[in-house]
Amino acid sequence: MRTPVLAGNWKMHKTAPETIAFLERLIPMVAGAAPREIVICPPFVNLPAAIGAARATRIEIGAQNLFWLKEGAYTGEVSAPMLTSIGCQWVIIGHSERRQYFGETDETVLKKIIAALEAGLKPIVCVGERLEEREANATEIVLGSQFASGIAPLEPGQFSKICIAYEPVWAIGTGKTATPEIAAAAHHFLRSEIRGRFGDEAAAACRILYGGSVKPDNIGGLMAQPDIDGALVGGASLDPESFASLVNH
Ligand code: PEP
Repeated sequence: MRTPVLAGNWKMHKTAPETIAFLERLIPMVAGAAPREIVICPPFVNLPAAIGAARATRIEIGAQNLFWLKEGAYTGEVSAPMLTSIGCQWVIIGHSERRQYFGETDETVLKKIIAALEAGLKPIVCVGERLEEREANATEIVLGSQFASGIAPLEPGQFSKICIAYEPVWAIGTGKTATPEIAAAAHHFLRSEIRGRFGDEAAAACRILYGGSVKPDNIGGLMAQPDIDGALVGGASLDPESFASLVNH
């Protein structure tokens, strides 16, 4: 069976002291959680504080982005080996905000996944349609094309190490969650794309997380769907009580 992943994407929130205070409150609240992987992704500068505070606990720490080259004249960028050298274990790749504001494409997503895997990071790769694409009935076309260009070129061994997050852009930070049925249909479609490219075993093993206004009062319905294997959570991951209740739902 697939172990669920509950990952918090803090975006550009919290200082280093706030990061430590959050983790000190979260750690005891999730210590007895059922089998699941628990990940917090703070901004780059607060990774060391988070890694220190979460050491020897069930919580693992991830970055929100990385650059695909190891080093060089790329002002402002951070590489995969730099992240692993400080004990970072996960990385979010291709979040819709990175695609929208920072020019990320399926091609850069693919390069970043490969760089992350080479360094031993566990990537959470985001895909999802925009509102106008859903309204034009193009959800499967968009997901299919993001999968084909950003994920399908991976080797099977590389693919086996990634998680995918289905994040409909219209549901991110808007309070509009996809209904469990809408999310389940997209997850089902993605799993069939995986099956077509990587086979039955890979499709059965891949964790596909849902993201988009996940809250304590809607996680139960989402996680009850057989193809939904966890959540990538923005707003509701900023408060330790609410994130703990997502982990412990
Ligand atoms: C996200 O940032 O990935 C996200 C899903 O945000 P929110 O939960 O706030 O919609």
